[in-house]
Amino acid sequence: MEKRKVATVLAPLEPHYVGDGFRVSNFIPGQVSMRRMNPFIMLDYNSKFYFPPSEKPRGVSVHPHRGFETVTIAYKGSVAHHDSSGGGGVIGEGDVQWMTAASGVLHKEYHEESFSKQGGDFHMVQLWTNLPAKDKMSSPRYQAISKDKMVHIPLPQGGEVEIIAGNFKNKTGPAITVTPINLFNVRLPKNTSTTLSFPAIYNTALLLIEGSVKINDQNIVQTDHFVLFENNSEEFIVEAIEDAVVLLMSGEPIEEPIASYGPFVMNTQAELIQAVHDFQDGKFGYLAE
Ligand code: MN
Repeated sequence: MEKRKVATVLAPLEPHYVGDGFRVSNFIPGQVSMRRMNPFIMLDYNSKFYFPPSEKPRGVSVHPHRGFETVTIAYKGSVAHHDSSGGGGVIGEGDVQWMTAASGVLHKEYHEESFSKQGGDFHMVQLWTNLPAKDKMSSPRYQAISKDKMVHIPLPQGGEVEIIAGNFKNKTGPAITVTPINLFNVRLPKNTSTTLSFPAIYNTALLLIEGSVKINDQNIVQTDHFVLFENNSEEFIVEAIEDAVVLLMSGEPIEEPIASYGPFVMNTQAELIQAVHDFQDGKFGYLAE
């Protein structure tokens, strides 16, 4: 069978700060459009970066979201979050937070206090996954997916697939998704490989968290680079040149219009204007700075 082709391999853009705590390179929509990678509509990548100790935790202060989900994956360091419904928690090393903002939340995201005081390497991904029109105004939901809840599938040549969401070899990951989404950490020791397969129509990409890999015995990909696949076929092969950790994302596109304005992603301009009004009218609740 024909392999799924690599469309492009992208180097990270010059990083910028979100608040003062997230030093990110944007891949989606900066280099790949929302439509092209839908249902993955935003990807900010904080490559491994040392933050010196700070008494005042760095981060991003109170802000809203509506119409989609934020998925935060912590590889190094930890993040504390608080929201307008009184919820909160810590996303520690190896953990994932899957927040369905849906009709709207206000939240703030900061380096966790003891991490902040100590300083250290911080390595994080934030993905936004879109919601279909029928679910954009449903109630918010949090899934705190700690490391111990992940599903680990050992690979025949060594290494493993850690399923955050979706399916691999008839096992299902812990995250509940609204539309079909696969999100895996693939850990491959040097000189081992694995075949991955997703329906051709699923938009599929990977981000190289650590090490370097070769795709389909052809494209060499270095640390912190992003690989966008074509939709020509299902299967592709990932081979580790050095010990590698790969974040793999593949999802069924939501075939609806996308209208976005900052932290709001809806279907129409009118819904965006409504979101801004609702935010200004305090309908997202209240959260102290
Ligand atoms: Mn946020």
